[in-house]
Amino acid sequence: MERLNKSDANYRALTPITFLKRAAMCYADRTSVIYGEARFTWRDTYQRCRRLASSLNSLGVAKNDVVSVLAPNIPALYEMHFAVPMAGGVLNTINTMLNANTIKTILSHSEAKILFVDYEYMTLACNALRLLKGEDKQSVLPSIILINEIGCPMKKNNKQGELKYEQLLMTSNPDLVSESSLPLVDVDLPSANLKQRYNLKEYEQLIEMGDPNFESVKLEDEWDSIALNYTSGTTAAPKGVVYSHRGAYLSTLSMLLGWEMGSEPVYLWSLPMFHCNGWTFTWGVAARGGTNVCIRRPTAYDIYRSIALHGVTHMCCAPVVFNIIREAKPQERVQIRSQVQILTGGAPPPAALLQEMKGLGFHVVHAYGLTEATGPALVCEWQTKWDPLPQEEQARLKARQGVSVLSMEDIDVKDTKTNQSVTHDGITKGEIVIRGSGIMKGYLNNDEANSKALKDGWFHTGDIGVIHSDGYIEIKDRLKDVIISGGENISSVEVETVIFRHPKVLDVAVVAMPHPRWGESPCAFVVKKPKNDKLMEQEILAHCRSNLPHYMMPRKVVFVGELPKTATGKPQKDLLRATAKKFCAS
Ligand code: ADP
Repeated sequence: MERLNKSDANYRALTPITFLKRAAMCYADRTSVIYGEARFTWRDTYQRCRRLASSLNSLGVAKNDVVSVLAPNIPALYEMHFAVPMAGGVLNTINTMLNANTIKTILSHSEAKILFVDYEYMTLACNALRLLKGEDKQSVLPSIILINEIGCPMKKNNKQGELKYEQLLMTSNPDLVSESSLPLVDVDLPSANLKQRYNLKEYEQLIEMGDPNFESVKLEDEWDSIALNYTSGTTAAPKGVVYSHRGAYLSTLSMLLGWEMGSEPVYLWSLPMFHCNGWTFTWGVAARGGTNVCIRRPTAYDIYRSIALHGVTHMCCAPVVFNIIREAKPQERVQIRSQVQILTGGAPPPAALLQEMKGLGFHVVHAYGLTEATGPALVCEWQTKWDPLPQEEQARLKARQGVSVLSMEDIDVKDTKTNQSVTHDGITKGEIVIRGSGIMKGYLNNDEANSKALKDGWFHTGDIGVIHSDGYIEIKDRLKDVIISGGENISSVEVETVIFRHPKVLDVAVVAMPHPRWGESPCAFVVKKPKNDKLMEQEILAHCRSNLPHYMMPRKVVFVGELPKTATGKPQKDLLRATAKKFCAS
């Protein structure tokens, strides 16, 4: 065979940012982004991203520089998914539910050069920066770019707004943005004086000033970093997960295929873009020439309204959003004319809930993933031979986490002591391990975490599961969530699944509670469905007694108004464990 060399024409570094240029060519006039009254086409979005990338370049953003952003699902956050890497930078989307201290840790650990802040999160950013400044007087603080609401800049006379704004300016670093690098334009900012004093920039101003013909910084190596996402920290301190351009590209394509997303989807942003870059659909919607419907929060009103107004075809969300959909008030609901595809993950969806969603007009596909796997790593691929099965059985099969997505080469469940693969019997438990191009490059500056997670040629998820005889994986628990009672391992997920089946229960989370005799025992935190105030602990316990072996019985049931949850809808079990510690079971 003749030896053929790689050339510039046939061997290009893989990157999802190429999807945008293509979208601007193929779907120039199609609507790319909808947000309230605002509309953009793919031609607009490409041009805005080029302008923003050019402005970032003028601000000194270069290869490997981290650009952070604190914003909900708004067009600016979508555009930054392309513009920041086009300028050579690494995008760090910050979870808006975090507290100021954690955000400070992220900004300091990532050495963010610029922080974009949506107006709603000014106080939070301000507090984080103040903490950062207080901790290390020498540290270079990121410069701040304010993201105002499109078409409705803040009112000049809003005194409260100005005060927060002043605080933000005082804590940001004015030196990073030199007066000459970017001329000021006359925009309606809260206080022109303040803006001039600190030379603070506003998002739309950067777009206006940028070069519409800017060409992306050439990507030499597809292993270069595109994004930095911190884990949500449900079990440990947040870790900085770094994605490569290559991993992001392959994961995006693999999700489009795995979910069978065809062309021109209308995609509702009910999943935060800051969660694993929206499970790659930030880049994926551009690849399919779709329309992004941006909403600041997934309220019942906004979800149903978007479906009715824009004909939403696809949306992703954690199972917690199912409750928002099914609990919607009659005046918030609309008739769903054609089925909406939902990809769910992030927490185990109870089978009963999957069944109910179908009745409401949503076709649910279940995936499992984690930040380290660029979002989904497993998807519960439907088999046509399951079609004739009874509804309940179908829901049970769908509640399993599934088989690997195409960007993953291999997946296994290994015994935590012997490191041997477990038998495919649906019973023997072990740790889920994965390898493939969708796995992160590694944790940023964290050798200890890297050596724990990336070893023996596998990424170790910390999740406990089983493999069924058909090769489908089912999660039973997380290593840290397993309740060890009298030497027996109790799966908190199994206890939750049983309690969730109680007709008066809206939500539940089960954690370990200290027990003088057994070491630990299960404690259940339960949210009652509305109008079920009379539901008592005894009723839940009786239900558990008929459905669980004795050793798995909760020793305490605590009724709460709502469960503390992360932005992606996972119960914050560390907080619940701290509460449960106070109830020492007898
Ligand atoms: P953190 O580990 O800090 O919560 P992630 O947001 O990356 O950060 O969460 C990943 C975890 O969420 C997984 O390790 C797993 O425990 C859980 N998870 C994700 N998808 C599912 C699912 N479909 N079913 C059960 N658990 C899931």
